[in-house]
Amino acid sequence: MKSPVLKNPNQDWHPNIWPPFTQIINSKPQLEVTHGKNALIYTKNPKQELIDGISSWWVTLHGHSNDYIADAIYHQAKTLEQVIFADFLHPQAQILSERLSGLTKLERLFFSDNGSTAVEVALKIAYQSWQNQGETRNQIIAFDGAYHGDTFGAMALGERNIFNENFDNLMFPVKRAPWPSTWINDEEVERKENNAIQILTKLLKKPTVAVILEPLVQGAGGMNMVRPEFIRRVSEVVKNNNSLLIADEVLTGFGRCGSLFAFQKANIIPDLISISKGLTGGFLPMGITLAKETIFQSFISDSPKKTFWHGHSFTANPLGCAAANASLDLLEKDPIKYLSFEEKHLSHLKKIKKLPFVKNIRVTGTIAAFDIEIGKNEGYLNNVGKRIKALSIKKGLFIRPLGNVIYLLPPLCITDRQLEKSYRIIFEILSDL
Ligand SMILES: *Cc1c(COP(=O)(O)O)cnc(C)c1O
Repeated sequence: MKSPVLKNPNQDWHPNIWPPFTQIINSKPQLEVTHGKNALIYTKNPKQELIDGISSWWVTLHGHSNDYIADAIYHQAKTLEQVIFADFLHPQAQILSERLSGLTKLERLFFSDNGSTAVEVALKIAYQSWQNQGETRNQIIAFDGAYHGDTFGAMALGERNIFNENFDNLMFPVKRAPWPSTWINDEEVERKENNAIQILTKLLKKPTVAVILEPLVQGAGGMNMVRPEFIRRVSEVVKNNNSLLIADEVLTGFGRCGSLFAFQKANIIPDLISISKGLTGGFLPMGITLAKETIFQSFISDSPKKTFWHGHSFTANPLGCAAANASLDLLEKDPIKYLSFEEKHLSHLKKIKKLPFVKNIRVTGTIAAFDIEIGKNEGYLNNVGKRIKALSIKKGLFIRPLGNVIYLLPPLCITDRQLEKSYRIIFEILSDL
């Protein structure tokens, strides 16, 4: 039986907008924003300034409406806003390619539009590179708790859960290894890592297209952190078994983990890297997949079958490239901002640690997280996170817990006072819980 059509089922929401990741029937409507500056978002009705505690879904790197990046985009828009990249090279793309290649040691850059496409491209390149070498491989390995985006390929790589179960029949199979999440004072960490490496090694006995992971921090899965040593061991096992390692640095890149890229803390060089989010300082949507020259070489041929037939309308959009170059300027000018962030989190977390139902406190670079112990009803749909979010907005802090995982992931420009206030608000709310 067809259910009756509800007219605007929640009057608080705009009647023409279909918001992301939201069931409007039981959600508070979007807050109307007038403007943003540095770490602050300004709303009307109620007129309020909110600290952006999660960098607007992990993208805002140097702060909102950063003048230097805004000017770079403005000047680029007046010079060249867009041109077809299959036939034209422009200076911003050239400069950005040289810079990112120099910083990552991966020679080839493929441009796309967002994090999901940067992952899709990495996976397609990996898959086809084996075929181009005359070998068909099908096994792909990802980790429990992973998130790699919402398009079909990226979605298939991620953990299977309520967010994608409707599409189960359409997703290709992926093998999983455990993710040895750890936290401060975790005594089990080595046992968990050994177990994960053992399972991964076994899986890799079968010829494998690639192993994909989020270096150091699984974001959407719940800010699940691992030690650099683990990433290093994964890289070694992948290499020893002649597969490819894809580092999904869509979240972790550009200083988020306390180094320019997270993989650098593990002292490895992946075969493919996906970046987006902070790439343009969070100003414009852009994704890039970086590949080793050897992989690129496997696509060089007279046979049309070996070409990488992939592209997007806005490939290497000049405005995005200008924003990315400006964002890199800022990172290079002031690396201490991301190098020293971890210390700040740690000093504030000392107080949080004393609260009774806080567990698994963890920090990597600019990202700090902990779990709220909620007994049996664990999981995203438990509403403790929603309650904490609503209360913290009232007090002037915007956060968006992942189920019972509370985390802060602020822009690099957040002031010491703003960070102090953020922790104070969280502390107050948790004390009253
Ligand atoms: C956000 C995210 C993606 C997807 O990026 P979109 O730009 O949202 O498509 C992929 N991988 C990781 C690790 C992410 O955090």
